[in-house]
Amino acid sequence: MWVDCNVHVEGWSPAQRLNWTERAQAAQIEAVIWSGTDPLQWDLPNPEGFVRAYGLHPLWVREETLTADLTQLESYVRAHPSAVGEIGLDRRAVAPMAVQVRALSSQLQLAVRQRCAVILHVVRAHDLVFPLLVEHAVSRFMVHGFSGSPALARRYVDLGGVLGIGGLLSRQSPRLRETVRQLPLDAFVLESDAPDLPPQGSRVSDPTDLPNTAALIAQVKGCDVQEVAQVTRATARRLFGDLLAQGD
Ligand SMILES: [Zn+2]
Repeated sequence: MWVDCNVHVEGWSPAQRLNWTERAQAAQIEAVIWSGTDPLQWDLPNPEGFVRAYGLHPLWVREETLTADLTQLESYVRAHPSAVGEIGLDRRAVAPMAVQVRALSSQLQLAVRQRCAVILHVVRAHDLVFPLLVEHAVSRFMVHGFSGSPALARRYVDLGGVLGIGGLLSRQSPRLRETVRQLPLDAFVLESDAPDLPPQGSRVSDPTDLPNTAALIAQVKGCDVQEVAQVTRATARRLFGDLLAQGD
């Protein structure tokens, strides 16, 4: 029933991994996308029940190894059914913005070539991301951990993208609430970003937080939580296509 569009399993505590299959079943989590960050992480074994995304995260972009890393990334994406992410731009990253732009452009082209959905990570660099999405004709993407304004959200949606909503909505964020209120429900997918971006009052996040996030969305939009579950699931399936095609 629930699709968690972005997690980082390598960051889960042993307690969080323990009995995951049972916990997922009990919470009706039907699919979880495990996002990529760097070459060592891409190589981690793929536990059953997770859909992989491979990407060079902007915080892991290094000019010295970029060419080799991108070559390696391409081999992972070609070898496995996957999405491409997290990729993007981050003003806090060590790599200069020009190098990050090079890394992002190359990965967007890879995603388009391989017909993969894209998971974007953008921190204070939206203005630089839009022209790249347009230039490479990228329309199957989600912006993860979105917390921006309704106007910013609309610019992404106009390009065909959707916005990942998670624990940030439970924090005091009038701007994000306004975005959720104004945009149509099918502009959003759910993500926990587990173990990061925990909801208010938690130390870590978990895919089983999704029903709470959906309840908050329902409250903000004045609709039924069941509708949030159905629409976000359908949107995730549209975005990730065959990766989530099993079952119904
Ligand atoms: Zn991120």
